[in-house]
Amino acid sequence: MGVGLIILIGKQGAGKGTQCARLAARYGVPHIATGDMLRAAVRSGSELGGKVAALMDAGHLVPDELITAVVADRLREADAAHGAILDGYPRTLAQAEALEELASPRGVTAAILLDVPTETVVKRLSARRVCEDCQTVYSADPWPPPATCSNCGGRVVQRADDTPAAITERLRAYEQETAPLLDFYRVKGLLAIVDGSEELDEVTRRIVAALDAARA
Ligand code: AMP
Repeated sequence: MGVGLIILIGKQGAGKGTQCARLAARYGVPHIATGDMLRAAVRSGSELGGKVAALMDAGHLVPDELITAVVADRLREADAAHGAILDGYPRTLAQAEALEELASPRGVTAAILLDVPTETVVKRLSARRVCEDCQTVYSADPWPPPATCSNCGGRVVQRADDTPAAITERLRAYEQETAPLLDFYRVKGLLAIVDGSEELDEVTRRIVAALDAARA
C-alpha cells in the first residue's frame, strides 16, 4: 500500500528539500520537487522552461494549471504508484484542490509544516548555494562555499531567485498563497507541525514520528 502522498509545506529555505530527500530514501518513494523539475525544464530549453523562466527568476509562482499538469504526469509514473513525497506542491488552494482529484481515491496521507522563523530563512536563503546538476544544497556560511559538488562534481552556484528582491517576493507569495493551505489540511486532520529550526537529524526524527503517529 505504501505511504501514500506526503506533503511538506514551509517557507522557502525551511529545509524541505533536504528533509524530503531523506524521507523519500526512508520510505522508498520518489521525491517530487516541483522547483527542481521546473529548473531542469529551464536548463533543457524546453517549451515549459521557456514559459516559466522569467516568472521563476522574479520569485513569482507559475500558473496553477501548468504546474498541476507537470505533477499529474509525474504522479502517473510507475515509481509513484505507492506514494511520493511532494516538495513545493501544492502551493495554492487551487493546487491543493486539484491534488485531491489527482491523489484520489486514497488522497493525501499527511501534510507536514516545517516551521521556521522568517529571519532564519532569509539568512539561509542568502547563504544558499546549490549544485546545478544534482541540486544538492550547500551553504556559503561559513565562507567560502565549495566550488564543486561532493556528490557529482557539478558546479555549485547561487540560484537566480536567491537574490534579496526575489526572496522578498517569494516569502510574500508564501504568506499570501501557501499559508492558507495550513487550514485546508488542518480541518482534514492531516496537518502536523514540526519545528524546522532544530538540527537536521532531529527535524527528520520529528517528521518521522509525526508520520508514524498519523499512520497508527
Ligand atoms: P522552489 O525550488 O520550490 O523554491 O521553487 C522555485 C520556483 O519554481 C518558485 O518560486 C516558483 O516560481 C516555481 N514553482 C515551484 N513549484 C511551484 C508551484 N507548486 N506553484 C507555482 N510555482 C511553483
